[in-house]
Amino acid sequence: MSVRKIVTYPSEILEVKCKQVKIFDKKLVKVLNDMYDTMIEFDGVGLAAPQIGLDQQIAIVDIDDDSGTIEMINPEILETKGEQLGPEGCLSFPDLYGEVSRPFYVKIKAQDRKGRFYTLEAEDFLARAILHEIDHLEGILFTSKVSRYLEEAELEGEGVE
Ligand SMILES: [Zn+2]
Repeated sequence: MSVRKIVTYPSEILEVKCKQVKIFDKKLVKVLNDMYDTMIEFDGVGLAAPQIGLDQQIAIVDIDDDSGTIEMINPEILETKGEQLGPEGCLSFPDLYGEVSRPFYVKIKAQDRKGRFYTLEAEDFLARAILHEIDHLEGILFTSKVSRYLEEAELEGEGVE
């Protein structure tokens, strides 16, 4: 396992639609393990493959709660409900934070590292983190959804994705 370099904005790879993963092999496991190490090293709560330079539909989320590390391969949003407005950051935009409106609830379908399909429901901050990462796989950056940028003094120790 190893820590990878984080791709920061601007970079073309951050704005492309990622390709579906079709092969679930050792290489994929290595990518997922490296993504985890990288997310932890840089104190993130999520990381998407384009952030380490790969245009593949792979993302992880770990907000340090009971859900543990959620590995999402080829994720799809099945349902969203409600709304939440809150601060958001991104490892590809160091020291930039903004208020972003997201659904309060999300239900997704994705594959795990073995290619097995699962569905997952999430609310609140976990839903925000999941939606932020899935946006990355579509080449959508949180800055396109920021309603207001925040000063450091306005932040309450929120995680970055
Ligand atoms: Zn991000």
